[in-house]
Formats: sequence, C-alpha cells, structure tokens
Amino acid sequence: MPSKKKSSSPSFSSNVDRMVDHAFSILDLDEGTAQAIKACDSVLQVKFPVKIRGQIETFTGWRAVHSTHRLPAKGGIRFASFSDQDEVEALAALMTYKCALVDVPFGGSKGALHIDPNQYSRDEMQLITRRYTLELVRKGFLNPATNVPAPDVGTGQREMAWIADTYKHLNPEDINYQACVTGKPVQQGGIRGRVEATGRGVQYAIREFFRHPKDVASANLSAGLAGKKIVVQGLGNVGYHAAKFLQEEDDAKIIAIIEHDGVLSDENGLVIEDIYRYKVEHGSFKDFPGGHFSPDNKGALEMKCDILIPAALESQITRDNAERIQAKMIVEAANGPITFDADKILKKKGIVIMPDIYVNAGGVTVSYFEWIRNLSHIRFGRMERRYDELRGNEYANLLEEATGSKISESTRSMIVRGASELDLVRSGLDDTMRNAYQDMHETLHANEKIDDLRTAAFVIAIEKISRSYLDVGIY
Ligand code: GLU
Repeated sequence: MPSKKKSSSPSFSSNVDRMVDHAFSILDLDEGTAQAIKACDSVLQVKFPVKIRGQIETFTGWRAVHSTHRLPAKGGIRFASFSDQDEVEALAALMTYKCALVDVPFGGSKGALHIDPNQYSRDEMQLITRRYTLELVRKGFLNPATNVPAPDVGTGQREMAWIADTYKHLNPEDINYQACVTGKPVQQGGIRGRVEATGRGVQYAIREFFRHPKDVASANLSAGLAGKKIVVQGLGNVGYHAAKFLQEEDDAKIIAIIEHDGVLSDENGLVIEDIYRYKVEHGSFKDFPGGHFSPDNKGALEMKCDILIPAALESQITRDNAERIQAKMIVEAANGPITFDADKILKKKGIVIMPDIYVNAGGVTVSYFEWIRNLSHIRFGRMERRYDELRGNEYANLLEEATGSKISESTRSMIVRGASELDLVRSGLDDTMRNAYQDMHETLHANEKIDDLRTAAFVIAIEKISRSYLDVGIY
C-alpha cells in the first residue's frame, strides 16, 4: 500500500475544505449556508475489546456522517492501519459531494476501523467486524433508512455479508434488513456488477471524456482512447478493474502498474488479467514473468504517459512531486489522491484532472441500485425479461415476414434478448457517468470563473445540496 502524506502537510479534510471553499467563492451563496454544507454532522468514535488468541485487544473505529440532507447517509467502511478521524471526516464529505454530483439521493458518510487486516485470520476478522457492527447499530450509525455502509479499502463482500448478518440478528423484525449495507455477495442480497462498479465507472468516465473533442484537445491528447498510454497506481479492486476494462475493451495500453512494493512496466502494454492472477496467487507481482519490474516505486507517478490513474490512496500527488508529473491527464480513481496545492501546480502545467467525486462515483451509484433492489425485494429484470424476449421474437418474425428475408441468428438474438440485471446495472451506471460528465462540461464552458472540471463538479454538487437546504429550510 502506498504511504500517505507527511504529517506536516495540510490534513486531508482541510484539503477537501479548500477545494470546496474555492467552489463557494464562485457561487453566490450566503456564508451561513456554506458553513452548514461544509460541516460534518456527527462523528462516532468507538473503542471495543475483542479476545484474540487469548489476549484482549482494544480496537478503535469511527463512522462520520457529513450530511443528512438526503437519507440514508452513504459511504464505505475501510479497514486500515493508517486510518484516523480526520481521514474519515474528509472521506465522508467527499461522499456528500459525490452523491449530489451524480444524482444519487444520499447524504455522505464514511467509516473506518484502525486495523491491519493482514495480521488476523478470517475467523478473527469476522469476530472484529461483527463487534464493530454491534457498536454501529447500538449507536444508531447503521440502519437501512439512515446510514448504509459499503466496501472501501481493506473491505469487500465478505465484510459486508458479516455486517448485514449482524444487523439482521439484532433487528429480526426489520423487513428491509438487507438494505442496511451494500456491496454484499449476490447470494446475500448483493447486486450483479457491484464488485467491478467503481472500475467500470472509471472506464465510462474516460470514454465520455473522449466523446468531447474540445476537452480532449485541451489535454493535448489526440482523439480516441485506443493506444493511449496509461499508468495505474494500485492494483486493488478499483485499479484492477479500471485497468483491465481499458486494456481489454478499449485497446488502451497500460504501460505501468505501481504497487506498494514496486512498479511493473512495459511500453508495449501489460496484460492486466495475467498480472492480477499472479498477484493474487503470489501476494505480489514482483516476480511476474513479463514486463520490467523495479522495486523503486518513488517517482513512478512521474512517468511520461497520456493518462495517469491514481487508484490507491489519498495525498499521493502533493506539492513535493506535482511539478514532476508528466501525464497529460489525471483520472482520480482514488478518493483525494491530489492535494489542493498539487492541484494548482498541475493546473498551471496544463494537466487536465478528472476529479474523484466524479470518476469514482460508479461504486456508490451501483450501491444505490443495490439498495433499491433490497427495498423492492426483487432482482432487476425479473418481471419483464421473458416478456421482452417474447415481444422481441414477435418483432423479429414480423420483420422477416415484411421483408421476406431471414434475419441472421445473431441479429435475432440481439432483438430478442431481454435485459438481465447486469445489463440494467451497466446501463444505469453508464447513463449516470455520461450525464454527470455532460453537466460538468456544460458548467465548465458556461461560466468563465470556472476553469477546471473539479471546480465544475463541486459547483454542481453544492448547488444541488444548497437547493435542498433552501427548499426545506433548516431547523
Ligand atoms: N467506498 C466507495 C466510495 O468511496 C463506495 C461507497 C458506497 O458504495 O456507498 O465511493
């Protein structure tokens, strides 16, 4: 895992606040509303004991709720040894703006448990996760109506299943218990396409960018995603899926992958699936037979490339290395990978930045679909799929009759096919990412005070949030 910023630099939450303040300075918003939007509503800190291998260990965790202008408040839970309250608050705030930007009707929240999951067995992790869940439930920080976690760094389907099951045991009369958390395994009420949703969203975001020639030209990039040289930092869930889809489906060249223990590079492009499998099997891609491995990952972010995708942690590009970045465009798949000061330096260098609150919104978007699925207690497409198939068949027969020629099998199956849950999830995600980009594009080009996509994104999000404060009032 890459390390985080030095403690002398401004904190993560103050970096987020400075970005938000910049957007406020453009909007004609009264100071009181601005302060109300910025403030973190509440933060829970818990300390709880768990008996591990005969010894009592005390764990510290948090859950921050940044905003409740929409409910439930939504956002992941991370398990990491570097997490702290400031990080959780910053990430909760980013969730608020992210959800508003992409029209996911949730407030923003985030949680963390201070732990290195690699030090514990599966059973121990289960015990710790269930105990942490108990704290959240008891204190009102986990509920399908008010606060719904999801996976983040160090957590995945497994942890979400434990959380859902613990909540169910504590609330057996809650018919909507499955909706208390998203990112669950499909067999436990999860939705197809959630695991890869954030990476898929990154792909859709970049595709949409390349549909806007003016924006592509402003990044000094040539048209078309095929052949573009991409560097990805982090081969976790987000980095892996984004890199894999871009390489396999868009013919982009992933020329380097940066991990905590080194960099794997190949100017002709890496095959992501092979590398990922190797990493899962061996714990590292260090000895992967292909590409060039270097243990020196410092400076790898500064490699010459078309697109740099930081998909690991916050504060990776700071004022210390920003000047040396050579990418033409940076796509923030992680939350907060660029500090406020670094952002200014990169902008001066003419580097286009696609902001995190847009780029990585695919995860929470599909979480929204999962939550709806859980509340409706039915898989998307279950009622209409076969009906659509029947109708499609009728159309195809009619077409054959009218034209007097036979439709090929492949065309028929395309016309006939009813949408599956995965088709619908992808369609909803693609639509969300396209709409949000188009909003940012319009806002950017309509207001001369806005000169980058990040500011456009925050302006859109803040306008929506402030509208909800103004409409409903504050009490
Ligand atoms: N942890 C993810 C994020 O940072 C997903 C949040 C969610 O699905 O609620 O956006």
